[in-house]
Amino acid sequence: MLEVKNLHATIAGKEILRGINLTINDGEIHAIMGPNGSGKSTLSAVLTGNPLYEVTAGEAWFNGKNILEMKPEDRAHEGLFLSFQYPVEIPGVSMTNFLKAAVNEKRKYQGQPELKAGDFLKLMNEKRKVVELDSKFTRRSVNEGFSGGEKKRNEIFQMAMLEPKLAILDETDSGLDVDAMRVVADGVNKMHTPETSAIVITHYERLLDMIKPDVVHVLYKGRIVKTAGPELAKEIEQRGYDWIKAELEEE
Ligand code: ADP
Ligand code: MG
Ligand code: MG
Repeated sequence: MLEVKNLHATIAGKEILRGINLTINDGEIHAIMGPNGSGKSTLSAVLTGNPLYEVTAGEAWFNGKNILEMKPEDRAHEGLFLSFQYPVEIPGVSMTNFLKAAVNEKRKYQGQPELKAGDFLKLMNEKRKVVELDSKFTRRSVNEGFSGGEKKRNEIFQMAMLEPKLAILDETDSGLDVDAMRVVADGVNKMHTPETSAIVITHYERLLDMIKPDVVHVLYKGRIVKTAGPELAKEIEQRGYDWIKAELEEE
């Protein structure tokens, strides 16, 4: 699904990613944890093609394609989805029209015809139920005046509509109460299939109790410094990151 090799990236001339290696197979859920400022959001941004970042070395292959050479929208059409830590508001554009455009652009890229209006509504209603999103939200402007929890739920709804192969959730749980976290986690779990994968970036073991990751990585100073099973998230919850930093210093 995804193979990242020795990825280096800079922003404003400052090196943030310093040799990321990461392999994600079909159906796997990987958690990425790590102290603030480690480069977690930078990794998501670089994979999805944010032009603020410059890739200075390394490779990233997604379903056999070199995504670093693809436009951001084509990466999305190939099935890469990034859920933002801080979703943007788009006043004047209804959720319905926004999603219709997004879904149909993807279909066009894949050589499929536009969805008929009725089929689109059916799809929207089906996916809305996955995240328990009230139908009134689909008539409102994208994220405008939505609460934090509603924005996050809306992100998962957008994800459900686009049916990505690899979803990256960048601290989608930050600022959520337990109930909203449960809705996000349930949505992710319901969408998970043996053919789809996810990267869950989080500070909290609680989310990883609900979305069971196969693999947990710790990103620190632009490198993945530790990789283990779900028990690593529990250990970090209890002990923080200092012991990992200490281990690195010993090396
Ligand atoms: P994380 O998501 O792990 O908290 P980020 O990827 O957001 O970390 O940030 C990694 C580093 O990149 C931080 O040290 C941050 O200060 C730096 N950084 C982010 N944006 C910019 C920018 N526009 N200019 C300079 N440095 C930046
Ligand atoms: Mg799995
Ligand atoms: Mg971040």
